Amino acid sequence: KAKELGKNRYEFYEKSMNEKMVLKHKMEDDIRRGLAEGEFILHYQPQLDYKSKKIIAVEALVRWNHCKKGLLSPMTFIGFAEDNGLITPLGEHILKVACTQSVYWESIGIKGIIMAVNISSKQFSNRNLVQNVQRIINETGMDPKRLKLEITESVAMESLETTMGIMTQLKEIGVSFSLDDFGTGYSSLSYLKALPIDQLKIDQHFIKNVTIKNYEQVMVGAIIDIAHSMGLKVVAEGIETSQQSKLLESMSCDIAQGYLFGKPMGAEAFVNLVYQSVEN
Ligand code: C2E
Ligand code: MG
Ligand code: MG
Ligand code: MG
Repeated sequence: KAKELGKNRYEFYEKSMNEKMVLKHKMEDDIRRGLAEGEFILHYQPQLDYKSKKIIAVEALVRWNHCKKGLLSPMTFIGFAEDNGLITPLGEHILKVACTQSVYWESIGIKGIIMAVNISSKQFSNRNLVQNVQRIINETGMDPKRLKLEITESVAMESLETTMGIMTQLKEIGVSFSLDDFGTGYSSLSYLKALPIDQLKIDQHFIKNVTIKNYEQVMVGAIIDIAHSMGLKVVAEGIETSQQSKLLESMSCDIAQGYLFGKPMGAEAFVNLVYQSVEN
């Protein structure tokens, strides 16, 4: 009986492995096709400076405008693209679109908006990352001072030495770095000190419960203080209520991002938002 059960399990396992393989290959082909057909688009979410009360940056967030499935969230395809190496061409496409958009906004008078682009730690294992970023900057005419790359501390897991080398070269080009999702991983203070980052983004899980006097509130306060003592700016991500926002401002948080100030939106909607905020 046990043997039979074992055999069934084996078959079940084998089948599901097979299905996974098929799904992976289908996905790979589909991502390639989507890239060729320009289905990967960017939405932009504003970041507000607490001091000036102005929009000082946007985060570019990729969506897949799939011909059959409609608009897909990055959660459904970034992982696949990381596993099959397509994150490199996809990442280049994203960076190119973001830089082109930024240069266009400058040309119509929307000036000085920082463009924050998410870079997967997998992109750090590509030897040509620095070259590719430099090429895209040259081709688009992007001012590297306006380009911020959002990385997570998992880049440090790749190989701290390689990562440091790449980051240092990118910093020399003029690009800056933001450490995304802070508080979710190891959140090692030694990474904060070792990596040449300019800014830290507190993960939205902390922001969710920040208004209740609890662990999250204590953590957020501590993170802000430590970041400031290291000369880093702090962004709070996932702010949905004015209560959360007021509390973060009172805790000396520098920059706010969240649905309260704007959901990720198309480029035209962002232009309208900027014009509206100038009128008011
Ligand atoms: P992330 O970089 O931490 O981006 C923030 C996510 O939080 C975005 O989800 C954004 O829409 C969402 N968000 C912002 N404000 C709020 C809020 O007030 N409430 C709630 N509930 N959510 C909020 P999104 O666009 O689905 O992206 C998810 C993740 O996918 C990103 O997390 C990032 O890790 C990855 N991703 C997105 N775009 C790219 C990209 O262009 N390249 C790479 N490599 N990864 C990307
Ligand atoms: Mg991000
Ligand atoms: Mg984040
Ligand atoms: Mg995230």
